[in-house]
Amino acid sequence: MSKQPSSYLSSKLEARPRADGSGNGIFSLEPIRKGELVAVFGGVVYEWDAFIHLPERDRSLCIQVEDRLFLVPRPIGEGDYVNHSCNPNAGLSGQIGLVAMRDIKIDEEVCFDYAMSDTMPYDEFECGCGQPTCRGKITGNDWQRPELQKRYAGFFSPHVQRKIDTERREKRIFEQATRLANPQKFPTPARLYK
Ligand SMILES: [Zn+2]
Repeated sequence: MSKQPSSYLSSKLEARPRADGSGNGIFSLEPIRKGELVAVFGGVVYEWDAFIHLPERDRSLCIQVEDRLFLVPRPIGEGDYVNHSCNPNAGLSGQIGLVAMRDIKIDEEVCFDYAMSDTMPYDEFECGCGQPTCRGKITGNDWQRPELQKRYAGFFSPHVQRKIDTERREKRIFEQATRLANPQKFPTPARLYK
């Protein structure tokens, strides 16, 4: 088997231990411009039922790529050490691409928010990112938070975006039905259907 890692990391970045001793992260060696590709994840795709029995390390380094599908790096490379932040400087482009959400300075750690990819409870943890926007506990349901849907518009994995679109559509249908069923509470329904 090839020893080449399954993920790609831009030559402008490297993996190294974080200063606080909490494992590895990826850090910029050169300035990176907003929109630049920084990493592409790779590996073997597992369905949920098999994935959930993999060792903890495999599960923590993977990325969810579809509703019940998970990409596990084989072999692990530098690009697989992208950590979570509640104030990320990178976001997803498609299922496996990672791009800069803003300009990134030298020596900044490059992180994304796991809410951009996760809809299942496989990697939930207490977050210690220390950002003012830190939400404390990271869960598989965070993609449902309205403030995150707004902040990360355009940076969600396609499977998460489909869920967001479906949720919005169902909410709209429910609201229209509520208005139809309660005309006394909503006296001017006509303008709602424009
Ligand atoms: Zn946090």
